[in-house]
Amino acid sequence: MVENYGLNDIVQMKKEHPCEKRSRNFKIVRMGVDIKIKCEACGNVIMLERPVFERKCKKIIKKAEETDDQGADL
Ligand SMILES: [Zn+2]
Repeated sequence: MVENYGLNDIVQMKKEHPCEKRSRNFKIVRMGVDIKIKCEACGNVIMLERPVFERKCKKIIKKAEETDDQGADL
């Protein structure tokens, strides 16, 4: 269970993504009624309802405001 998560935060999920890299790190790419998270390894986007996301998310690895790349999407 996590709280205080925000857009562009990097989070670690309890369960790994069933892709080749088996990454558990995801980036929050949309905050709304639903949360969209993007797999850091393969780039796939998953949509979860907020309660589901909060239950499946283990912890926040990196808060977005700690990074300097303001909108520079390279
Ligand atoms: Zn993946």
